[in-house]
Parts: sequence; structure tokens; C-alpha cells
Amino acid sequence: MNNTVILGAGPAGLSAAYHLKGKSILIEKEDRVGGLARSMEIDDFIFDYAGHIFFTQDRYASKLFKKLLKDNINFKNRDAWVYSKNIYTRYPFQANTYGLPKDVIMDCIIGLIDATLRQAQDNGNGRVPRHFEEWMDATFGDGIVRHFMKPYNQKVWAFPLNRMTYEWISDRVMMPDINEVIEGALIPPHPPLIKGGRGEFGPNSTFAYPLKGGSQAFADSFIPHLKRTEVLLDSEVVSIDLREKVITVKSGVGSWESGVRNKREIGYEKVISSLPLPELISLCNKVPKNVKKAAEELEFTSVYCVNLGINHPEITEKTWIYYPEKDIAFQRLFVQSNASPYVVPKGKSSITAEISYSKFKKIGNEGLIERVIDDLLKIKFIQKASDIVVSDLLDIKYGYIIFERERQRKVDIIHKFLRENNIITVFRFGEW
Ligand SMILES: Cc1cc2nc3c(=O)[nH]c(=O)nc-3n(C[C@H](O)[C@H](O)[C@H](O)COP(=O)(O)OP(=O)(O)OC[C@H]3O[C@@H](n4cnc5c(N)ncnc54)[C@H](O)[C@@H]3O)c2cc1C
Repeated sequence: MNNTVILGAGPAGLSAAYHLKGKSILIEKEDRVGGLARSMEIDDFIFDYAGHIFFTQDRYASKLFKKLLKDNINFKNRDAWVYSKNIYTRYPFQANTYGLPKDVIMDCIIGLIDATLRQAQDNGNGRVPRHFEEWMDATFGDGIVRHFMKPYNQKVWAFPLNRMTYEWISDRVMMPDINEVIEGALIPPHPPLIKGGRGEFGPNSTFAYPLKGGSQAFADSFIPHLKRTEVLLDSEVVSIDLREKVITVKSGVGSWESGVRNKREIGYEKVISSLPLPELISLCNKVPKNVKKAAEELEFTSVYCVNLGINHPEITEKTWIYYPEKDIAFQRLFVQSNASPYVVPKGKSSITAEISYSKFKKIGNEGLIERVIDDLLKIKFIQKASDIVVSDLLDIKYGYIIFERERQRKVDIIHKFLRENNIITVFRFGEW
């Protein structure tokens, strides 16, 4: 019997183990901690599972990050861009249209003026947008929506935008101000950080990253502090008996079917779970029908990450680039080697291309690496295919949570049931 069992050793599970006062047992199906923020090594290139940068406005989290990583931290200024209409404009798009074709700039400015006038005429009494798509139209106007917001968000969420809510936006999307938009249309892009300038928008305008070891170094830095925690790696939870309060775990090498894997039963008083809610519910026995249904109907986006090593010392100075246009497979390129020079061998660069998919936008992984390389050639990001010296494709089933109208109702049903069974769920995939 262990008082508290923590499921999943990603950032949330590690943090739970770190902060718990009593003894705990931390169960992770992979052979290392870190979850989506773990890294892997291929031919001396270190790739994060999905490219991870670190930023927070929370003073405690920032202090903890420094305590854990000590001097193994690289601080960076964001240098983010958008690539559309065959040119690069600085992020955020809405405040940096300089250089785009004149008719596109006109669409953006006139659309925003229209939207602003509409809001002024409504004087706060206008119709409240019913969904994310209407919110974009009301906030940005037709031009910015048509040339960036809509196509980019369609790519990244792979979900009908008119079924999404907009409560998640908070400080993630820059609200345009007419002065800034006009200035951004007339004046060439600023260097990334001018204090108070357009480039400084948002919580990640500066960010941190482990100097050595990729984002895995962050996850590993918890381990020496987990003195009261038994960490079980390569151990997959296969069932949770809610009545007997017993978790069954399979662990070790080999396959379950071959019988080489060990089966272990672990009793608990409380569970802290960071597992995606649909996965967690599917592991539990005796789940009422309405809870099962709610979990099965939660909406999410999956993501392929194509990791590429490039035979070029500094392929770009940019930190990441957004690609709103349909004819390019990926929606974002993260330049991993610009987060830290130590994630690549000398004279090389590395990138991760992110491609969202879902039941609404089915994309197979066959030929995807080649498609990404073709697109990189098409936009002249690389000069020849043989520049790619390492390639790998990762398939992340649970990438982004979808905020849709029914989300809160479903989550409340599931959380209530789990709480009644002494299971607390945490963070991105547990809170959903
Ligand atoms: C493409 C992409 C890019 C991102 N970039 C950033 C970024 O730059 N910065 C940032 O802060 N965040 C970023 N995120 C978000 C970040 O990855 C998550 O917020 C974070 O990983 C969530 O941590 P977690 O511990 O809750 O979940 P996870 O990291 O998903 O960890 C859950 C763990 O549970 C384990 N598990 C699952 N099922 C079982 C089972 N049955 N038995 C045992 N173990 C199990 C998994 O193996 C995993 O290790 C990104 C996400 C994506 C998809």
C-alpha cells in the first residue's frame, strides 16, 4: 500500500512528486521521465519530443526552474516570424504586415478599421461572438482573419473553428490596436526586442532553455530531489480497480503477450493523474455510462513532429516560424538548434516541423517526412534534399486540447466521478 500514486512522469507528475510531503510512487510507461518534454538523441542530434521552450510569468515557477537547472540555462529573445505570400513578416502577423503585397496590407487595415468602427457603434451592446470564428472576425476584421488568423488556426487546431470557444485566448493572441497595425504596415520589422515595441508582445517574448541536454535536462533535474518517491520507469498502468483501490502495472522488457513483462499490483489511498482523461477513464473499471461517454467525446488535436538534422551551421537566425498557407504541410517550424547550440553537432542545425491532424483532418504519416522536405525546398529554407542528414517522425496522439462548447460540461462529469474515487487529475491533460 502506497499512500499516493502519481500517474505519468511528465512535467506535471514530476512536479507533483517534487511538491508532495509524504511518500509516493511515480509510474511512467516510457523509459525516461519528461513526457512530451522529454528528448531523444539521434546521431549526436538532440531532439525534444515536441520542441519545448520555457517561459512563465509566475515568480515561484521561475525560481524553481533556476533552482533545478542551476547554471545549465540558456536565455533567449524570441525571434519569431510568419511566412506567407512568399515573404517573411515578423510575428505577430497583425502588427507586422510591412512587405506584404499592398492589397493584402489594405485588406488588413481596412478590415480592422471596419471591425473597430462596428465595435464603437455597438458601444458594448453588440452581439457577443458565439464562437472562435466570430470572435476573430469581430476582433481583427476580414483582412487579418482571411490572410492569417483563419488559415493558421485551421491548420493548428484541425477542428471546425465555429465549434470552438474563445475562453482560452487570454494573453496568447495579440489584440491589435489600429495605431500598431498601421505602424506595422509602414515600418520595417523591428529587431525582436525593443522595450515596449511590437516585438515584445506576449508571455514568451523571452524564454529559457537548458543549455545542455535539451528539454530532457529540465525533466531529469527533478530526479535528485525525489527522495520520498519511488520512480517506476518502463511501467505502464493497464488497469485501475476503483473499488479495491489497486493499480495494475506492466513493466520490464519484452511484450505483454510473450509474458516476459512483469505484472505488479500497487494499492493506493489517493491517485494524482496527469494522464489524458480519455486514457485514464478507459483504464478504470466500473465507470458509469455517462462518464464513459463524456470521456469518449472529449475533443483533441494530434500532432506529427518531423525532426530534421541539417548539414548547415546556422540555417536561420529565427527561433520559430508560422506557416498559415494550405500548400505547406506544416504549421510551424521550431528551430531547435537556436534554443541551444549544444543540441547539434558542430556545423549543423536542427528543426522540428509540426503538422496537426484529427478526425476532421486525416493525414497519414506515410511519405510525410519527404513532403516536409519538399516543402522546405519549395520555400528555399534548404537548398538541396541532401542537406538533411537526420530525419525522424513522431506521432503525438494528445497534442492540443480543444475548447469547444461542451468541453466544460463533459470535464465536470468526469472530474466529479474521479474525485469521488480519490483520483485528482492535474494539468494540461488531467484538467483538460
Ligand atoms: C507540439 C507541442 C509543442 C509544445 N511546446 C511547448 C513549449 O514550447 N513550451 C511549453 O511549456 N509547453 C509546450 N507544449 C505543452 C507541453 O508539452 C505540455 O503542457 C506538457 O508536456 C504537459 O505535461 P504533463 O506532465 O501534464 O503531460 P505529459 O508531458 O503528456 O506527460 C504525461 C506522461 O504520462 C505518461 N503515460 C501516459 N499513459 C500512461 C500509462 N498508461 N501508464 C504510465 N504512464 C503513462 C506518458 O508517457 C507521459 O510521460 C507543447 C505541446 C505540443 C504538443
